[in-house]
Amino acid sequence: MGDGGSDTGEDPMLDSLICVAGSSIKKSGFIASHSTDERERRVIFVNAGGEELRRQGHSEIEVEADRFFQGGDVLRTDEEVADGGDLPSIYQSARYGNFCYEFRDLPPGDYSVDLHFAEIVYTNGPRGMRVFNVFIQDEKAVSELDVYSIVGANRALQVMNIPVSAGKDGVVSVNFQGVVGSPTVSGICIKQGAPELQLVSSGRDGKSLLCDNCFAPVKLTAAENKAARMSFTAKYEREIRELKAQCQMKQDECYEAWMSLTAANQELEKVRAELDVKFFQNFTLGQAMEKETEKMAKISSKYEHDRRLWVAAIDELERKMKAIKSEHSQLSFEAHQCANSIPGLNQMVTAVQSLVGQYDDLKMKFNEEQERRKKLYNQLLESKGNIRVFCRCRPLNMEEASSRPQTVVEFTDAKDGDLGVLMNGSNKKIYKFDRVYTPKDDQCDVFEDASPVATSVLDGYNVCIFAYGQTGTGKTFTMEGTEQNRGVNYRTLELLFKIAEDRKKTISYDISVSVLEVYNEQVRDLLASSPPAKRLEIKQVSEGVNHVPGVVDMKVENVDEVWNILQTGSNARAVGSNNVNGHSSRSHCMICTVVRAKNLVTGECTRSKLWLVDLAGSERLAKTDVQGERLKEAQSINKSLSALGDVISALATKSSHIPYSLATCMLLISSIGFRNSKLTHLLQDSLGGDSKTLMFVQISPSEHDLGETVSSLNFATRVRGVELGPAKKQSDTTEIQKLKLMLCQLKCKDDTIRKLEENVQALEGKTKSKEQFSKSQQDKIIDLENQVELKAELCGHLEKRLSQVYEKMQRKEEACYSFQQKVISFIILATFQRS
Ligand code: ADP
Ligand code: MG
Repeated sequence: MGDGGSDTGEDPMLDSLICVAGSSIKKSGFIASHSTDERERRVIFVNAGGEELRRQGHSEIEVEADRFFQGGDVLRTDEEVADGGDLPSIYQSARYGNFCYEFRDLPPGDYSVDLHFAEIVYTNGPRGMRVFNVFIQDEKAVSELDVYSIVGANRALQVMNIPVSAGKDGVVSVNFQGVVGSPTVSGICIKQGAPELQLVSSGRDGKSLLCDNCFAPVKLTAAENKAARMSFTAKYEREIRELKAQCQMKQDECYEAWMSLTAANQELEKVRAELDVKFFQNFTLGQAMEKETEKMAKISSKYEHDRRLWVAAIDELERKMKAIKSEHSQLSFEAHQCANSIPGLNQMVTAVQSLVGQYDDLKMKFNEEQERRKKLYNQLLESKGNIRVFCRCRPLNMEEASSRPQTVVEFTDAKDGDLGVLMNGSNKKIYKFDRVYTPKDDQCDVFEDASPVATSVLDGYNVCIFAYGQTGTGKTFTMEGTEQNRGVNYRTLELLFKIAEDRKKTISYDISVSVLEVYNEQVRDLLASSPPAKRLEIKQVSEGVNHVPGVVDMKVENVDEVWNILQTGSNARAVGSNNVNGHSSRSHCMICTVVRAKNLVTGECTRSKLWLVDLAGSERLAKTDVQGERLKEAQSINKSLSALGDVISALATKSSHIPYSLATCMLLISSIGFRNSKLTHLLQDSLGGDSKTLMFVQISPSEHDLGETVSSLNFATRVRGVELGPAKKQSDTTEIQKLKLMLCQLKCKDDTIRKLEENVQALEGKTKSKEQFSKSQQDKIIDLENQVELKAELCGHLEKRLSQVYEKMQRKEEACYSFQQKVISFIILATFQRS
């Protein structure tokens, strides 16, 4: 057996492997020879356990699919076989188990056999896992071959050139017999001709051939060869048998060790797997635990936060509850008090109701009485005369006083309205007036008598008050007065506001004022901020109502506004005139106060006018002795004053007690020349009928002015209807007394009613406020009770929530704890198993 000797001696195992002379072992796969001879020698080449293989090229190879076998199984691998040579896929398949090959129909002769092996199953197995013998033609050709121990796993190995002879039957049998495990083969190639023996070393005769492995001399002839082989074989077989026995023993031991090791390994593997599983479980548990811990921490922090919030909320609620409770008890107490006071209240309410009844009754009576009072008052005024004339004499001025003039007026019977005028020294003439004021009488005295007439405008009557007289006799003083010593104008309006205020519960008043001036028969608006585009004309707007369109009509709310307006008018009167006093004395200043009243009880509405007129100076034309413009002025004044005198005296005649027929009255009125002057035209709707007229005749005490004084007094007498005066007055004295008494009584009644009214109103107010208070308190109590109920409900709800959250927390804590326990036990188990 030989192979160029490269493997020989390297591996002592080979010694016991092959004993067939001429054969050799090669630790690589099949390499095709380039020589055609070699190719031609291949008779049969089967791929054991595999398919037919073919390789084209300059050295064509043809390997048949597996055949000629008997028994055994097929082994295959996809793993690559190292050193597989030209046909590595031969080694990827094998036949193994209990099998043999029988090649038939071979021409008798010498052949050589190549066996191809590869350990493709026990790739990781130990040596000796598969050990087998190969018999060719029943002779052991390969002894105890262990492929793995020679080349390792998945590597090709060839046992080449095993000589064999085919007999007449043409059969070559190749038998495989296992020593340990099952035999295996990947390919078998039968070549023609015996292998050439190589001379390795010289034997005793110098010609003998030696086996590579056992150095047995190989004889040239087959018989010699065989005999030598037999003897060596016997010797070595013995040794082999011993060794084999030992080996078997070792192998058995080894096998046992291997088996136990395998079992131990398997056990270890199992344990390792289990450990892995446990580790994995441990790891996942740890992760889960971490997550749970995190969750727990979150939950507990949230819980802590919530708990703090809830605690604060509960504290707040408790505080509120306490406050509400105390408020509730306070309110209950108040309610109790209220309830206790309710009987008294009820009594009060019934009393008030009866009072209200009484009040209504009284109100009705009061209204009736008021109506009657108005009538009586008016009758009283009328009894005094709707047209009244007061005479006022101014004091001597400084100049007059210094020149010691004679006073021509006498006031001995001034109280009775008699004024004496000394004519020509001793001749005394008596003038009768409704009232005579001496120079000592002040503004208050004057106003006291004038006020009833002036204020009747509030009862719906039209009123005209004039100041008539020579310039410088005190017309303006009486009407306007000075800031310290105010006159009729201001005092009248002041009183109107006062009465309006007193009556505001029953009557509402709307007062407006306009200020006009009549000069040279032209009307001028003293309140207008700019001169009007058109001349102011007097128009009749409805039956008995005259109006000057475009005149400023200032609504006034209080007396301060009145003063401002009067000042504005007074100032405007002076504008546009070189000589202020001169101008004012030659024009009529007319203040028109319009009163709109609404009786709040009866709903009755009235509209009335009060004229306060500061007339132009009445001095006669002859005395002034003027011409041109002055003459025109004087004529205008004269005309208007005459017209006024005519109108008033006509009215005085009409309203006198002389029993004129109705027709005569109508005739008288229609004949009155109102339109003869702008002054009377303006006053038309305020003179006559029920309207009241009061004229102040202003005179001077100086004898220098005697002429004008007499003239003024005559005018006044005419105006007053002097011929009827005394008779009228006298006949009325008892009646007046009676009426005065009645008026007094009425005033008393008025006062009582007013007081009662006030009492009732106060009581009503009190009752209402009490009722409202108790109602609001009750509402508050109900509200608070509702709130308390709501809060209590909320509290209960919150407590429930809190306990739920707490329970949840506890459950989480328990779960966490059990997790921890589990993890610890797993860790202990794992450590235990590992150790
Ligand atoms: P008239 O308007 O009629 O022209 P006034 O009112 O201007 O007259 O009065 C002329 C002067 O006489 C003024 O200085 C005024 O103060 C004064 N006077 C008039 N009447 C009285 C009186 N009763 N008491 C004191 N002074 C008076
Ligand atoms: Mg004047």
